[in-house]
Amino acid sequence: MLQTITVGALEVNCYILWDGATKDAFVIDPGGDGDKIKMLIAKERLKVRYIVLTHGHFDHVGGVVVLKSSLGGAKIAIHKDDVGMMSESHEHGVIFGVKTPQQPSPEVLLEDGQVLKAGGLSLKVIHTPGHTNGGVCLYEEKEGLLFTGDTLFAGSIGRTDLNGGSHKVIMDSIKKKILPLADTIKVLPGHGPDSTIGRERKTNPFISGEAV
Ligand SMILES: [Zn+2]
Ligand SMILES: [Zn+2]
Repeated sequence: MLQTITVGALEVNCYILWDGATKDAFVIDPGGDGDKIKMLIAKERLKVRYIVLTHGHFDHVGGVVVLKSSLGGAKIAIHKDDVGMMSESHEHGVIFGVKTPQQPSPEVLLEDGQVLKAGGLSLKVIHTPGHTNGGVCLYEEKEGLLFTGDTLFAGSIGRTDLNGGSHKVIMDSIKKKILPLADTIKVLPGHGPDSTIGRERKTNPFISGEAV
């Protein structure tokens, strides 16, 4: 089962993915509005195993502290190269005029190829640097879902002008690690509407080379 809650001032898509039989769950990118996310978790009686962060930007991690305090058993997971950015999310948010509380330290440091499990669900970590050094996409193969964070959006790609960003590196990540996936895979980005790999392959101007 999958629910999307749009959270925070920058309207991040927080995804709650769970095994309908066992109620084991992942919360992906709780960028803010922790209480809204907590309400859904309580309503569905979910057992959150992991709070997974696609990258360390404040708009994606801002709700972790609220969730963690009530979901002690859920482990916070982020790529090892974005841990520093997550710990600076408070200072980073101030620059954007968004109040972000200090976040707790992650317990699981992700690497490319690692798999996280919750009930019958598996999220495979695909390291996709370019928006940030430690940006990842999360792939649930059986369900055909790819959570792309700020790496790939419907019709666009993540900005590369922030700390750790690189246009060449993000394009390499998309072409070598995302586009080999099947056209039918659903793309669930960190902001905006969802898409599919096939639609992005055909219509995304950054992939076709119309935009640089
Ligand atoms: Zn970002
Ligand atoms: Zn973002």
